[in-house]
Amino acid sequence: MNKMVSLTIDGARVTVPKGTTLLEAAGQTGADVPTICYHEHCTSYGLCRLCVVEVEGQRVLAAACVAKAQEDMTVNTASERVVRARKTILEMLDSAIDLSEAPEIAKHLDDYNIDKERFVEGWQRECEVIDDNPMFIRDYSQCILCWRCVQVCADDAQYAFAINFSGRGHETSISTFYNQELTLSSCVFCGQCVGVCPTGALKPKREWLLESGHTQDQIIKLTRAERRKKKRRQERPYQTG
Ligand code: SF4
Repeated sequence: MNKMVSLTIDGARVTVPKGTTLLEAAGQTGADVPTICYHEHCTSYGLCRLCVVEVEGQRVLAAACVAKAQEDMTVNTASERVVRARKTILEMLDSAIDLSEAPEIAKHLDDYNIDKERFVEGWQRECEVIDDNPMFIRDYSQCILCWRCVQVCADDAQYAFAINFSGRGHETSISTFYNQELTLSSCVFCGQCVGVCPTGALKPKREWLLESGHTQDQIIKLTRAERRKKKRRQERPYQTG
């Protein structure tokens, strides 16, 4: 039988099985802990830190998606310190990344009433749209590095391992090995990365073409051209272009 632990979250007593995360335990009390990188079908790593909560007696805020509930913990999910930390994270994200196609994050920006001018002179991610395959486009100007796409491409789902982090600091991005085209990588075009991406960084190519003003007829012609290109590649795999 699972051992149970009891703790207090925002003044409410809750009892959960040992190993339950603070995010799951908070969910039982009705506390609204915001998340970005967390996805119920992916392994949590606490990357975005938006779900931080304050645990009595602990020096630093804890990422609720990875921190485990422990006996007699006292947790505050909305203290002044917690709200200030989340607000700063959202302000930094908003200043650096194009979030125009990220409705869930836009809601957090509103909920936390962020100051859009705070980091207005900060660095901004600017990348060219990558259109290197017939299935989807990649616009990493909109990428928040949540890592969900990498996880589903790896051992959370597909085991293709086609993409991963690349670079350091501001230059960090999602990339294929040696930054080669997706068609030359181990990608199987399952589309799971597109499905879990919380922003407009990954988008089905048809949707992107329609949004760019292409008609259905133009898209069909483009698709045929892509198919011919793919066939040529299969016949002559070592020839580039
Ligand atoms: S491409 Fe999308 S899913 Fe992948 S890290 Fe960027 S925002 Fe997250």
